[in-house]
Amino acid sequence: SGRRNTAMSILKEFEEKCATPIGKLRQVADAMTAEMHAGLASEGGSSMFKMLNSHVDNLPSGDENGLFYALDLGGTNFRVLRVQLGGRDGCVVKQEFTEVSVPHELMTSATSSELFDFIAKELARFIDTEGEGFILPPGSQRELGFTFSFPVKQLSIASGNLIKWTKGFSIDDAVGKDVVVELTKALDRQGIDMRVAALVNDTIGTLAGGKYLNNDVAAAVILGTGTNAAYVERAHAIPKSGEMVINMEWGNFWSSHLPVTEYDQALDQDSLSVGEQIFEKIISGMYLGDIVRRVLCKMAEEAVFFGDIVPPKLKTPFTLRTPEMSAIHHDTSANLRVVERKLKDIFGITGTSLETRRVIVDVCNIVATRGARLSAAGILGILKKMGKDTVKEGDKQRTVIAVDGGLFEHYTEFRSCLESTLSELLGDEVARTVVIEHANDGSGTGAALLAACHSQYP
Ligand code: ADP
Ligand code: MG
Repeated sequence: SGRRNTAMSILKEFEEKCATPIGKLRQVADAMTAEMHAGLASEGGSSMFKMLNSHVDNLPSGDENGLFYALDLGGTNFRVLRVQLGGRDGCVVKQEFTEVSVPHELMTSATSSELFDFIAKELARFIDTEGEGFILPPGSQRELGFTFSFPVKQLSIASGNLIKWTKGFSIDDAVGKDVVVELTKALDRQGIDMRVAALVNDTIGTLAGGKYLNNDVAAAVILGTGTNAAYVERAHAIPKSGEMVINMEWGNFWSSHLPVTEYDQALDQDSLSVGEQIFEKIISGMYLGDIVRRVLCKMAEEAVFFGDIVPPKLKTPFTLRTPEMSAIHHDTSANLRVVERKLKDIFGITGTSLETRRVIVDVCNIVATRGARLSAAGILGILKKMGKDTVKEGDKQRTVIAVDGGLFEHYTEFRSCLESTLSELLGDEVARTVVIEHANDGSGTGAALLAACHSQYP
């Protein structure tokens, strides 16, 4: 019928606009490398990459010893953990954590002190449960690594000012403030005697945690609610000497080569950060489901795809979350029963044909494939910057990229597409030297390790 044809033409046009042929991915990778150079050359040298110096000049050596705490704030969930490190050969002797979701009001309509009081209260509760196997030498103060995954201008390893919020957070009075000072004040208000020894973001934590387990780890990528990357920069590329760990804040990447559609533009316009974090809005978990929803909504409006009226929930932003999209995409049942159930549960849509459900799976596939392939292009950009996109005569060293985040961990199609695309981009010979490793919750452990590296007790 005509309606069906309209829906199919919307699908076809969307697919074309999202296309990521290998040549385009190479252009994206080159643009990424070029921006990295520009961002390193001078402050403000890149309009999109901050290339923030993390002030981590020593990554974990393996000798770290003692009890350390970590906080991880950076998206939907907030984690508190403690680790007992056993020094050389001892590794992580014991580790415990707890996770709570951040109430939505705290993300948007709270004050800075309300947010940090919430964090400090959870930490106080957790410290109270410290039991056997965790040893604090008498008279010493507990120390903490703080993973705070928003753009921060670091002044030292344990101080840094919030540049801006991302990922749906917006607490205006925190912008520009030193988040370690804010946290420390909240710890004082709760009567917690603890020193913040390191402020890191999740990419830096993941890099540190990854390198602790595998010395070949040279970069880290987060694919969760948001997306970001960090890598170890060689000495001569930066004015100062020594290796430097750079937090790219790659979520803010933009290039004219990026395949941006009308749905992405509308999503951006409706967001809290118009014109910013465009790469993140195309590839990360906070947004993928909503891109799908927008395409389905257009089909409902213009092709009467779900009956005569447009289901109201289809018009409501963020009703389709990425984990749900993933479940739809992975439905292997013959009649797409999972898709049928999700449509009913999420949008109140019933009575769809199998053909219609297939189209919905196609939309998920297009959105996930584009995100995964662009993520691979971003990783190629970093490998090029590190000079690891070719195999040098006699160089047998592997390059390991530690990757973490719920999107990478749980969205199988996304993950396998990312991995196969990276191999395709690198070619067989180089692909054998580059390893993508899932760093399971490296960021929390990594922050505790960095606190240990920067402990007040030598
Ligand atoms: P954060 O990025 O908030 O620190 P995570 O790394 O745990 O936390 O990532 C959580 C995000 O991962 C969710 O917001 C969601 O977008 C995505 N995610 C979680 N589970 C799945 C899933 N099953 N399929 C696809 N995406 C998922
Ligand atoms: Mg995280």
